Amino acid sequence: MIVITSPHISDERMNEIVRHIEQGGVQAHLSRGIDRTVIGIIGKADPHLAEHLRSMQGVENVIKISKSYKLASRDFHPDDTIIDIKGVRIGGDHLVVMGGPCAVETPEQIDEIARLVKAAGGQVLRGGAFKPRTGPYSFQGIGVDGLKWMKDAGDKYGLLTITEVMAPEFVDVCAEYADILQVGTRNMQNFDLLRKLGTIQTPVLLKRGMSATYDEWLNAAEYILAGGNPNVMLCERGIRTFETYTRNTFDLAAIPAVHQLSHLPVIADPSHATGRRELVESMTKASVAAGANGLIIEMHTDPDNSATGDGVQSLFPDQFAKLLKELEQLAPLCGKNFNTGKQPAEAFLVWMK
Ligand code: PEP
Ligand code: MN
Repeated sequence: MIVITSPHISDERMNEIVRHIEQGGVQAHLSRGIDRTVIGIIGKADPHLAEHLRSMQGVENVIKISKSYKLASRDFHPDDTIIDIKGVRIGGDHLVVMGGPCAVETPEQIDEIARLVKAAGGQVLRGGAFKPRTGPYSFQGIGVDGLKWMKDAGDKYGLLTITEVMAPEFVDVCAEYADILQVGTRNMQNFDLLRKLGTIQTPVLLKRGMSATYDEWLNAAEYILAGGNPNVMLCERGIRTFETYTRNTFDLAAIPAVHQLSHLPVIADPSHATGRRELVESMTKASVAAGANGLIIEMHTDPDNSATGDGVQSLFPDQFAKLLKELEQLAPLCGKNFNTGKQPAEAFLVWMK
């Protein structure tokens, strides 16, 4: 159930309404708009609560939400959520590019890739320090040292960082070093992990489980939101189907569909969605045309020889740079603002080429 307040009510009146809701043993989550506030009621409410609230001064409307997720739903929060991380805005009409290797390997590797991501106009450096590998004998990640190397590289080149967190006990250390925490497809329904992520404010990129429906995915987001962390973005990374040519099947329709269902930013991962380097460029552009708020793309300086994971789907640095240059032209046509952070002179040179 959600309560929509009358325009411009006083703080006193708002507190009165919230008190009335919480007296019944349920929680009130506030989402403040320019004129009105939307109050989401979480928990099993008394059947008469809606009636009582409707008769209260300062309440314009009470709407029952039949979806199992509430805070993630657009009914609760009609405007797009925009997450501001150190001045980089994710959501709404902003387009953000996260690029980097599947895994952090050495300090030199992540430093060089960070330099290339920045030079190409990306805003976020990706890299896994804890890797969720299908087999136990594959490279499992560098661990905490990898987080430190990535933070150093991000700080050096002025990039945000994103890394995967696999277990609740590693949330704090990952949040100490990274700006965004990624929940991988294999952990989308790791409810202990989601609950723990709800207790902090670090933004979370929640990848869609490889067999998850939109409803299950948004319910997973709801765990984080209901815990008190409003900074959640969703990531479509392909799903399991009978097709084996591509690593996964990219569900492009998920981007506009989830935008209708939810106010949360949607990021596309064309690398894991296809598993093939030669398909990444077209799926990146398709994602932008479908309304994605950002991309997370794997890139490596030597993907065919030295990458510890996912080399076949990782772009070469020149492919990555060319793609971002093309996004600068495509983004405005799709109603998006792609701020590469380049100085006007650099941007002019890019435009001239
Ligand atoms: C990754 O981003 O490297 C990764 C393991 O992704 P996913 O969870 O989508 O497989
Ligand atoms: Mn990967």
